[in-house]
Amino acid sequence: MPVDHSLNTEFPGPVNPGYHLKKENLKSVSEYANGILTGNRAMLAKAITLIESSKKEFHELGNAILEKCYSNTGNSIRIGITGVPGVGKSTFIEKFGMHLIDRGKKVAVLAIDPSSSLTKGSILGDKTRMQTLAAHENAFIRPTPAMGMLGGVAGKTREVILLCEAAGFDTIFVETVGVGQSEISVKNMVDFFLLLMLAGAGDELQGIKRGIMETADMIIIHKSDGQNIENAGLARHNYQQALSLFPPHPSGWKTPVQTASSIDNNGINEAWETITTYYDTVNKSGFFQKNRNQQLVNWLHDAIENELKTRFYNLPNIRKKLARFEREVLAGKLNPARAATELIKLSQ
Ligand code: GDP
Repeated sequence: MPVDHSLNTEFPGPVNPGYHLKKENLKSVSEYANGILTGNRAMLAKAITLIESSKKEFHELGNAILEKCYSNTGNSIRIGITGVPGVGKSTFIEKFGMHLIDRGKKVAVLAIDPSSSLTKGSILGDKTRMQTLAAHENAFIRPTPAMGMLGGVAGKTREVILLCEAAGFDTIFVETVGVGQSEISVKNMVDFFLLLMLAGAGDELQGIKRGIMETADMIIIHKSDGQNIENAGLARHNYQQALSLFPPHPSGWKTPVQTASSIDNNGINEAWETITTYYDTVNKSGFFQKNRNQQLVNWLHDAIENELKTRFYNLPNIRKKLARFEREVLAGKLNPARAATELIKLSQ
């Protein structure tokens, strides 16, 4: 049976502050890059660990690997998938992923893990998810930790997408739990955004804000099987009507609402047909490239912000004085805006 190196590597994988990386085990930039470019998943997994590392020397090595691979990136369709816990995301991705692999695709799944920065371990790191897919040689599954304040919600996901593309993965899923702000950052790094919902659970219960529905390129009412088929059809109709009240997408695309069951294998091929229709349409209209260009510019700005923040908080003077300023704000002696101005002055 093929071994999934993303889940079985000398590096820890899921939650990944870099302390398991050993300097003496490191290889050269070319060795990693060549490994990735020839589709070696173990090398890919290690390079991701490096790029996600919070230690400067590891992180810089990861960046150098990415730079070497950069001209081989971009050749994929990037699909964001969101929905509340329990909606069936991992079951769906497994079915959908296998469906695509059967059609000759290479599938990478990056699961953004919102809990990891708090708990240092998590449900998304659970190795029992997507077992069939994980074991397939044309798949690569990787939980990616949502970083703390400095890395932004999606941490290094953009870099990880590029590394997966360099390794030949042509269909990239970025999975996020639809309960926080992470789906907005994911929307900003994918070509197509899919929202999974359930019939009969109120919008509030599903934690789905109007904004998320508005940005979706397809909504799937999931678990449309057994006694639930009728409800799912009804929900499909209602959501489709609700969507018609939203302003049109900048691409001109009209978001379809479909039903699917990962258990009964229904609606899986239809979901892929919608994605390929979308891809063909926006490719022809030029929106696909326009959107990717906008995302690149956004990335540049995010990177500047992150770098500035990191430098600021690492300044010895700021490290020394931040706690005192926090105390003064809490004691009501300083307002936060004033404190920020003073601190920034101290950084110059
Ligand atoms: P996630 O938290 O969104 O990743 O959801 P999971 O994929 O872990 O699924 C949550 C539960 O829903 C599991 O018990 C699955 O077996 C079940 N489930 C997933 N897909 C379907 C489906 O298409 N139909 C039904 N009836 N149950 C499903």
